[in-house]
This record gives sequence, structure tokens and C-alpha cells, in this order.
Amino acid sequence: MKLIIDESRCKGCNLCTLVCPYNIFQEGSELNSKGIVVPSLDRPGRCTNCRLSKLYQRRLCGVCQLICPDQAIHWVEEEPYEPLGVVIEF
Ligand code: SF4
Ligand code: SF4
Repeated sequence: MKLIIDESRCKGCNLCTLVCPYNIFQEGSELNSKGIVVPSLDRPGRCTNCRLSKLYQRRLCGVCQLICPDQAIHWVEEEPYEPLGVVIEF
């Protein structure tokens, strides 16, 4: 699982930065193309959902997602590892 902020929805209210027990959301520092400062993620792999949801087969926290007024926080499944083909030239 991978934590993402949907920049097309986020309005930079920073409510998410207040609630995460691991301080994964940090106040951003740069305006994006829409003039909004979207929070940055500090080591999002530390999120309980990213680390443990597979093990427990369910979401474990999700407070940031609940508090976000714009439904901008999601988790996505990461692409499974796909081995690259090896081409041997003679
Ligand atoms: S789900 Fe919980 S631990 Fe994960 S980023 Fe959101 S508030 Fe933090
Ligand atoms: S709570 Fe939602 S809208 Fe507000 S800064 Fe966080 S991701 Fe963006």
C-alpha cells in the first residue's frame, strides 16, 4: 500500500498535518501550479496502513483520510514486482 495526496483535490488546509500520530504529513513549502501548498509526506512507508494493512487485511488508522475535507488522501496498491526480460545479443 502506498499513501498518496491527490493534488487535484487538496486545498492545503493542513488538517492532515495536525492529526497523524507519526507526523507523516508535513507542511509543504512550495506552491504548486494551482497556487496551493500541498503537504509533503515524510517517509510515508511509516504509516500504519502502508505497513500493516496487508497483514491485518484491513485499514488500521485512516484518521488523516477521515479529517480531510476534500477526499484528497488515498492508499493505492503498489505495482507488483515484474522482472524485466533480459535480452542476450550475440
Ligand atoms: S493513516 Fe494514520 S498513520 Fe497513516 S498517515 Fe494517516 S494519520 Fe498517519
Ligand atoms: S487535509 Fe486534505 S485538503 Fe487539507 S491539506 Fe491535507 S490532504 Fe490537503
